[in-house]
Amino acid sequence: HEAHKTPTRIQFYESSMSSRMTERLLLENDLHDALANQELFLEYQPQLDLQTGQVKSVEALVRWKHPKKGWISPGVFIPIAEESGLIIPIGQWVLETACKQVKRWEGAGLPPIKVAVNLSLGQLFQQNLVGMIHNVLEKTQLEPQYLQLEITESMTINIDHMTTILHQLKALGITIAVDDFGTGYSSLSYLKDFPIDCLKIDRSFVQKIQSSSTDKALVDTILSVAKHLQLKVVAEGIEEIEQLSYLITSNCDTVQGFLFSKPIHPNILQENYQTLHENAKSILDSITAIK
Ligand code: C2E
Ligand code: MG
Ligand code: MG
Ligand code: MG
Repeated sequence: HEAHKTPTRIQFYESSMSSRMTERLLLENDLHDALANQELFLEYQPQLDLQTGQVKSVEALVRWKHPKKGWISPGVFIPIAEESGLIIPIGQWVLETACKQVKRWEGAGLPPIKVAVNLSLGQLFQQNLVGMIHNVLEKTQLEPQYLQLEITESMTINIDHMTTILHQLKALGITIAVDDFGTGYSSLSYLKDFPIDCLKIDRSFVQKIQSSSTDKALVDTILSVAKHLQLKVVAEGIEEIEQLSYLITSNCDTVQGFLFSKPIHPNILQENYQTLHENAKSILDSITAIK
């Protein structure tokens, strides 16, 4: 009997694994056409400047509406784009679309908004990334101080290459943030070499501020490191008023999270710009009232 069971089990694993791989190959195939078919969109998540209560920046987040499968999360398709090399054309499209959008908001009379765009590792090793970004800025006429690029600690595998590229990007006048800071198992020494402007505290720490003294200590430590190195801090994933309250007390510069706003369509942001600020004011007032 045992002799029969084992092969069956192996067969089960093999078929479920190959169906996952087939699914992935199908998605990769569809992702090839997604740009040309205009299935990719950007949403923008407003970031709240705690000093002024204003939205001075947003993060651009890519969305894919698959014609048959519906919305597919970037957590699923960005890794496929990275492994297939499609991240190069997709990344360029994201950058150009985001820069154009900032100019469009400006044209519609909104106060200056800075856009943060996520970079993938593959883009840092693409031919002439700096030239491409320079061209996008020229073409869209976006002033470089309104563009921030987000890198992650996992990209610090080649410190020399990264240092060169980041200095070239800084020379263009754009700023650099480290996304998901504290989750990357990398040495902190890169903070000495890289011309970084901002740390983004990962939401896994923020969301446990109340429940875990370790996570709270890590948030405090990141804020302290940032202060000593004169870096700005954006805290990600704020969902609860208590998290915001703690970050305000700790002098965090900027927050981003569902408590304030989800990522939204650029026209919705434009139409509701005033409402967003009224929202922010009532959230911030309610915190002052508690104190
Ligand atoms: P990320 O860069 O860390 O972006 C923040 C993610 O957290 C977004 O997920 C956002 O929707 C989500 N988020 C924001 N506030 C909250 C909150 O309060 N609670 C919770 N639970 N989540 C919150 P999203 O849009 O699904 O993106 C996931 C990841 O995909 C991004 O993480 C980024 O690594 C990657 N990604 C998205 N767009 C791009 C892109 O254009 N290029 C590249 N290379 N990667 C991208
Ligand atoms: Mg990001
Ligand atoms: Mg992040
Ligand atoms: Mg994150």
